[in-house]
Formats: sequence, C-alpha cells, structure tokens
Amino acid sequence: MATVKEDIDSKGRLSGLRIAFATLGCKVNQCESAGIAEGLAASGMTLVPFAEAADCYVINTCTVTGSTDSQSRQLIRRATRRNPEAAVLVTGCYAQRAPEEIARIPGVRFIAGTAEKEQISDILREMTAGGPLIRVGDIRKARAFSRLEATAFPEHTRAFLKIQDGCDAFCSYCIVPYVRGTNRSLPPAEVEERITALAQTGYREFVLTGIHLGAWGRDLLPQTDLATLVRKIVEGGTVKRLRLSSVEPQEVTDSLICLLGRSGTVCHHLHIPLQSGNDGILAAMRRNYDAAFFRDLLRRIHEAVPGVAVGIDVMAGFPGETEEAFDDTLHLIEETPIAYLHVFPYSRRPGTPAATMSGQVPEEEKKRRTERLRAVGTVKRRKFAEQFIGMPLHVLVEDRTDKITGFPIGFSDNYIPVAIRSRVPANQIARVMPERFHEGRLIADVIPK
Ligand code: SF4
Repeated sequence: MATVKEDIDSKGRLSGLRIAFATLGCKVNQCESAGIAEGLAASGMTLVPFAEAADCYVINTCTVTGSTDSQSRQLIRRATRRNPEAAVLVTGCYAQRAPEEIARIPGVRFIAGTAEKEQISDILREMTAGGPLIRVGDIRKARAFSRLEATAFPEHTRAFLKIQDGCDAFCSYCIVPYVRGTNRSLPPAEVEERITALAQTGYREFVLTGIHLGAWGRDLLPQTDLATLVRKIVEGGTVKRLRLSSVEPQEVTDSLICLLGRSGTVCHHLHIPLQSGNDGILAAMRRNYDAAFFRDLLRRIHEAVPGVAVGIDVMAGFPGETEEAFDDTLHLIEETPIAYLHVFPYSRRPGTPAATMSGQVPEEEKKRRTERLRAVGTVKRRKFAEQFIGMPLHVLVEDRTDKITGFPIGFSDNYIPVAIRSRVPANQIARVMPERFHEGRLIADVIPK
C-alpha cells in the first residue's frame, strides 16, 4: 500500500485516499469532525465508515471522564487493527490533555491538539512513515475561534451550529477549560450568515451549541449575550425551529425564558446542568448557585413556558458527598418537574482541584448512586411524556425509522421522541396526536394542521 505522502498528487490533493472518522463526546466535537471531514472530502479524499478499511483514520477524542479516555484508546486500537498500515491521527480533548500517553499506543502516527484540528489536511500532507508526531500547543493562549464548519450533517435532520468554544468557569471537577481554552464566540454576523446558508439547503431546525454556550458574546466587542443573539435569529425569520444545547443555570436569564415562552420559534426545551442538590457540594464544585436558586429557576421557567422540557445533568459521588448530601440531590430531582436526567458518576480528572480533595467516594458507592439516579430519571422521562397523550405536538420527522416500532420517528419541540404511525416525509414538521407511551417514545398519528 502506498504511503499517504505517495498518494498526494502534484496539486497537493489527497486524492483517492479513503478516510474514516470516529468521534466521541459533545456536539461541539461532532460539529468539528463534520467540518474536518468536509474539508478532506474537498481535497479529494473519500469518506468511508469507520468499520471499513481506510488509508487514514481520524479519531476525535473526549476526555471528560476516565471512561471517555478509555473509549478513545479503544477506538485508536480498533483503527490500527483494521489496517495496520493506515495513518492514524488522533485529535480532540484527550489528545490535548495527554499527547504522550497516546503516542505510546502502537500505530498512532500523528497527534493534533485542540487548536491544531484546523490544520488536519495540512498535517496529512506532511505525514510520512515513522514515529508519532505531536503537534499540541498551549490551548489557554488560543484566542481565535476555530471555524471548522460543516454545510451538511448527513446523519441528522437538524443542523448543529457551533457558536462558542472554551470555558473560563473552572468548576473544580472539570478538565474542559484546560483542554478547550478560554471563552471564544463566533460573531453574530457570522452566525446569521451560516444559518442563512444552512436554511437554504433545507434545514428546518438549528441547534446552537458550544462548550459553555451561556457565555456566548462575553468576549466580543461590543459585549453581547445569548438572549440578544437568539432574539436576532428569531426576528430574522429564516429559522423554523431553534434549539439550545446545554445552558448553565445562572445563564438562563429572564430574557431567554421570555423568548422560549413567546417566540414560537425557540423550542420549549432547556438542558441545564444541576450537578448536585446539596449546597455544600455545589460550593465545593465552584458552581456559583445553590439548590434554592435552581428550584426557583425551574419554577420561573415552568410558569413562563407551559409544557417545557427541562433536562438536567447530575453527578453522583463528588468528593465529600455524604449519604445526606446525595439525598438532597435525589429529593430536589423528585420534587421538581424535570423531564429527563443525564447522570454521570464523578470521574477523577488529574490536574483539577477535585482530584486531590479528601473524601473521595468509593467506586462501588458511586455506581450505586448513579443507578439510583438513573432509575429516577427513567420514571421522570415517562411521566413527562405521558402528560402529552391526547395533546397535539409538533414533530420534526427524521430521515430514519424507529428501531422499536419501525415507524417514522422524530422529536417534538419539547424533546420527546415520537413514533408516527402514518406515512410522513422526512424533514417535515408534522402535527401529531400522541395515543400512548411505549418503550421510551410516544406513539402518535398525524392530525390536520
Ligand atoms: S461551566 Fe464548568 S462544567 Fe461546564 S465546561 Fe466550564 S468548567 Fe466544565
């Protein structure tokens, strides 16, 4: 098999080479992989599924937990097994955090840090046989917004728009600020330009994403905020549905809540990281709000936005979390109208303040608490969805069928999966009447608009 270098034609195109991607982690990583893949396809490379033999593999890793590190390593090994001669390039947050560790995995040829993702096609052109090359800079010094943008999201009916990167919050358990750098925002004019271009290709729903989305605009001159951007997008009239990815509790402002309640465009859905319902633990996490604030926030959201889905992230087994502190979290969740939970066991990230805190909770106990919370989450999800039986919902129909029912499936604007018994074309917003709940989704029929 030719080396990567031999296959580059005289114009520097990576023509004919098969390239496969595997991406772990958040939507921002997914957006960036889509952007890199489009750039490489434009250079003449052929994208193939990760399960196939390829000439190059790009593994875009995640490092938020010990488990995502280990999944990243597994994917690297899978790629090198599939084609031992392939050029394996590892990038993403794990690559930024631990390049030397990755360099020890046999078969890895290149390691690119967070800011170096934009240079991946150049890196492939330079890549020759030999030991792994590490190109990982000091990400906290990065000031530029990485403009890896995709014009299509082949596996998705909705378009994901990365408008913010980095984080300055330094929550005590979180490795993200160290691997993603400081808060950087995409200027509003560029956000609108991208939305217009994507809307012209037929996208109806847009998801604004970022590492710390609620910090959008703080670094821009003049300074601005997420609610102002959302209002501008709504007023622009190009977008049928606009969804926000995770927003921190203190950043769910009254203006944002008002837009959700009144615009008719912003989905009735918020994802808010709670992490703990115990004030002592929240302070140790450096989260800057307490349980009373969170309860009141939920009350204000529900008053202003009837039918809203509020999903939360919650962490089990942070250092010092006693049984009583855990119960506080459990009670807060049980008492409040939460639509679904994402539960994570605390993962000790070297280099973060929490990693050296006393009172580390044993793994078995973290597991038990995680399972307990997940069981509450399952009940919450069902209860939330069942409220909408017999009430019309608007569902963006996806280009796939449901694995369980075989029906077309999509998400309501308040983020309930809905399987539709009628024939409906993909990428339409259908008005449906849910009839029952079945294995995590509502079953519904189309009704006239
Ligand atoms: S806000 Fe906190 S949890 Fe979220 S990315 Fe920043 S440091 Fe991590």
